[in-house]
Amino acid sequence: MAGFNQDIIEEIRSRCDIAEIIGSYVQLKRRGSTSFTGLCPFHQEKTPSFHVDGKWQRYHCFGCGKDGDVFRFIMEHENISFPESVRQLAQRCGVILPENDDYDPGAARVNRDLKERLYKVNEEFSAFFVRFLRENPNSPAGIYLQKRGITREVADQFSIGAVPEERYFCLNYGRHLGFTDEDLLAAGICGRAEESGRIYERFTGRLTFAIRNEYGRGVGFSARSLEPKPADGRKYVNTPETMVFKKGMLLYGLPQARESVSKERKIILCEGQMDTIAMHRAGFTNAVAPLGTAFTPEQAKLIKRYADEVSIAFDSDGAGQKAFLRALEYILPLSISLKMIRIPGGKDPDELFTNGGAEAVAAAVSASVPWLEQFKTMLPGLYDMSTPVGRGQAAAFMVSLFALVRNQIELESYIREGAALLQVSEEALYAELGRQRNKERRASEMRGASSAQQKTPPPAPPAPDMPGRSAMLTLFALSVASQENAREISDLLPPEALEEGGILAQALNLLLAAAAAGEPEADTVAALNALLAEKNDSELGRFLLAPPTFSDPVKALNDSVNELLRVTRRRQYTRIAGEMRNCSDPERRLELMKQLQEVLREK
Ligand SMILES: [Zn+2]
Repeated sequence: MAGFNQDIIEEIRSRCDIAEIIGSYVQLKRRGSTSFTGLCPFHQEKTPSFHVDGKWQRYHCFGCGKDGDVFRFIMEHENISFPESVRQLAQRCGVILPENDDYDPGAARVNRDLKERLYKVNEEFSAFFVRFLRENPNSPAGIYLQKRGITREVADQFSIGAVPEERYFCLNYGRHLGFTDEDLLAAGICGRAEESGRIYERFTGRLTFAIRNEYGRGVGFSARSLEPKPADGRKYVNTPETMVFKKGMLLYGLPQARESVSKERKIILCEGQMDTIAMHRAGFTNAVAPLGTAFTPEQAKLIKRYADEVSIAFDSDGAGQKAFLRALEYILPLSISLKMIRIPGGKDPDELFTNGGAEAVAAAVSASVPWLEQFKTMLPGLYDMSTPVGRGQAAAFMVSLFALVRNQIELESYIREGAALLQVSEEALYAELGRQRNKERRASEMRGASSAQQKTPPPAPPAPDMPGRSAMLTLFALSVASQENAREISDLLPPEALEEGGILAQALNLLLAAAAAGEPEADTVAALNALLAEKNDSELGRFLLAPPTFSDPVKALNDSVNELLRVTRRRQYTRIAGEMRNCSDPERRLELMKQLQEVLREK
């Protein structure tokens, strides 16, 4: 993996959705909430045995055994080297690669530890801010929420809190919790003035909205001033970009929305936090919002992982229209069905809910229109639709949006609707589409010609057969199948049982360690993929995507744990006996003898 920093690899992996990337080469059919199947591109077949899994970000073919992550797929499919695949995917998802960066596994581990500490800082402060607000209902923050009609339940659900007015409160409280100043700076709770080097606080006296990532981990805050004219002139202050707070990659409300989104695979995309909360209060618990900035391609991909349909509830003013067009640009290539919720009177969902209650919001949601219809109503404001020139410009603009659509069937139906809408022929729109695509292809060929070719690294040899492997594989499969199994195995197996066993033992160790988290965290997925990239183990890949089922899982679990304990004891016995043979120191011999007896007794 030399040549690239592991963080860059992870960044690319997290921005690329494997199902979407592979889906652009292979027709994939959804099988479960994150799993897909299709005809294998690596061998001839008539029934699909090629599996892609969004949860683990891996693919596996049950026919030919091809297996890997998104980088491996691009390498094998395009027959290019690993660095080339990194470059290609980086370009595809907009990651800028640093020059001459070296991969450092030690640094990757340090980064993981630091991330964990930053989550902790955010979670501790969030809990405190929520408690502080609850205990001070008559503070400016409390009064503000009462005025907005936000109950304690809603405040708790969204971890809304308040920061004391006291100077250096956060710094002192953080130190009191045992965090270093560096931790507090790295988490963005405090900042350091560039000139004086003095530490300052960001959120003093503000109302805070905790920001969580999709897994519900605390990553930062959005803090609203309660002064009519805030001293620094900023109504909202956000946590700055940190290792865990990457504004463009987060969606506000996603952890609260996940449950209802996963049922229907539909999302409502609002403009801001208060709109999101208003939607949830009105019963639309699938609402999310970008974090006070423009909608990004990464956020579109995040949505794609959870939903097949997005309804946009942006303001209908000029800024809202611009935001709608930008959302189109990022959402259309992902084959997500797209609708527009029109808020009567040009208001936002928050105002609509405040004035009209849940019924008014429900009426607006049920009256949502397909995006093309909304686009049509915008055209007269953008072009002079009474002249041929104006209509031509409108057609070119519309086709530039159609050109983003990758699915041929979708594209054809858009062309049909678009032609009817502009009262032009479908042929004219196809001709315009061809012209735009040729132009784009020429531009991308010019970019591609400058990138260098590199050699493909040899494939890793298959894992050797070692004692305990089948027991370990069984435990691995059981841990993938259920968190409960993983927790139980983790309780039964001493750490030394997984000291040997190569990639498989390390992978199992990762799953056991992650079991407490309840879900495969992004970090676990990343670590597992990094491990399997070092030395590909096709069997492991298969077990990860489709763990075999056991007729008696409890027995399988206990038998395998016992087998692994036996293997471990045998290994310890061999090691101690070997050392005894070569040992001349009587005292050490006695010590080894005792150890040997202990191992034998456990048998
Ligand atoms: Zn295959």
